Amino acid sequence: MRMKKKGTLVVISGFSGAGKGTVCNRLKEKYGYSLSVSMTTRQPREGEQEGVEYYFRDESEFLRLIDYNGFIEFARYVDHYYGTPRQFVEDELEAGHVILLEIEVQGAVNIRNQYPDAVLIFITTPSVGELVDRLTGRGTESPEIIDKRMKRAAQEAMSIDEYAYIVCNERDRLDECVEQVHAIIESSQTMTERNRAFIKTIQEELQDRTR
Ligand code: 5GP
Repeated sequence: MRMKKKGTLVVISGFSGAGKGTVCNRLKEKYGYSLSVSMTTRQPREGEQEGVEYYFRDESEFLRLIDYNGFIEFARYVDHYYGTPRQFVEDELEAGHVILLEIEVQGAVNIRNQYPDAVLIFITTPSVGELVDRLTGRGTESPEIIDKRMKRAAQEAMSIDEYAYIVCNERDRLDECVEQVHAIIESSQTMTERNRAFIKTIQEELQDRTR
């Protein structure tokens, strides 16, 4: 009798500018985790490539895919749609892999409702001041967009309790953050929620032997 191995969905959320993208990429490189590529209706930023950061699509195509049940979740965030394509995630789960979803809070809650054993992690900066610094420092967004994202961050902060874990990504301490997230993923393998079938077998076998 062994604990059954199946894939693990790991949801990584956090304020825009908290560095969650970097954390996910590092986890992928270092531990070979799969990273889901989302679809979005927003325009690519400089340096972003089709199929790497996102699949960039117009709104009519996005809406068509919603109709085809092509997403396991989708949400609207700052005037645009973002969604997690269904096929890749289902294939990876079937193959027993760890899959990282870098998505915002509405998507995270949606995933948890569908997959109760998903691991939800919120990445934050150590302070609001540092969040503002990072959002301004990236230099890629207009003041209006930065303002929208700050307002959104204020809303998202009210939902941190939806997550099982909160991890700080401190400036110049990326590795620490990556190792903490890795440790959470490792230990999640032994959650009772993930091992229902194994637990049931033990319970039944013990009932039989003590009858
Ligand atoms: P950005 O425009 O900065 O790349 O992403 C904006 C927000 O959308 C981020 O919080 C990011 O995590 C989130 N996001 C990216 N892809 C998805 C997705 O597939 N679904 C959901 N619900 N949120 C996403």
